Amino acid sequence: MESQKGLLIVFTGDGKGKTTAALGMALRAAGHGMRVLVLQFIKGAWTYGELVSLKKIEEIEIKPLGTGFTWKKENLEEDRRLAEAGWREAVSEINGGRWDMLVLDELNIVLSLGLLAVESVVEVLGNRASCHIVATGRNAPRELIAIADLVTEMKVIKHPFLDRGMKASKGIEF
Ligand code: ATP
Ligand code: MG
Repeated sequence: MESQKGLLIVFTGDGKGKTTAALGMALRAAGHGMRVLVLQFIKGAWTYGELVSLKKIEEIEIKPLGTGFTWKKENLEEDRRLAEAGWREAVSEINGGRWDMLVLDELNIVLSLGLLAVESVVEVLGNRASCHIVATGRNAPRELIAIADLVTEMKVIKHPFLDRGMKASKGIEF
């Protein structure tokens, strides 16, 4: 009998809390002995605090993808090539059957910037097996939202960077 398809979960919106919500879910799953792989689409999106903590949890593995993005208009083709190479790695992990949960941190950003083709990402995620998939990042494309099981939009009510020009706080942002 085919095992049940995993859930596709999307955390999007302008408000803070998308990556940390995905991490909370990874932590929850790890407590059940579930194996979790976290793929970081954007280097630097993850900081010291969570990297140090996650290394202590043996059920959770972290893998950086897409290092070297330039984010420069004149290098769009190079960034696209890097995003595609990262995505190929993600696909082999999604289809490899080793994981109970996969976090695709900042995938939504890479899609919304047009660095990856939404149709091919939607096709792979739509054909996932029993592994749960959590995608984070602002501006999740509607095609991804359409096939997701759970979508939460974080909405800014207040943020100290915006309201008070405050710098990033230890334990809160990094
Ligand atoms: P977090 O990693 O804290 O859960 P996030 O994943 O929702 O945040 P990103 O869009 O990945 O947010 O941005 C990461 C960083 O930008 C965080 O340090 C966060 O505090 C900051 N940030 C998030 N939302 C806002 C906002 N609306 N205004 C200013 N800074 C923000
Ligand atoms: Mg984030």
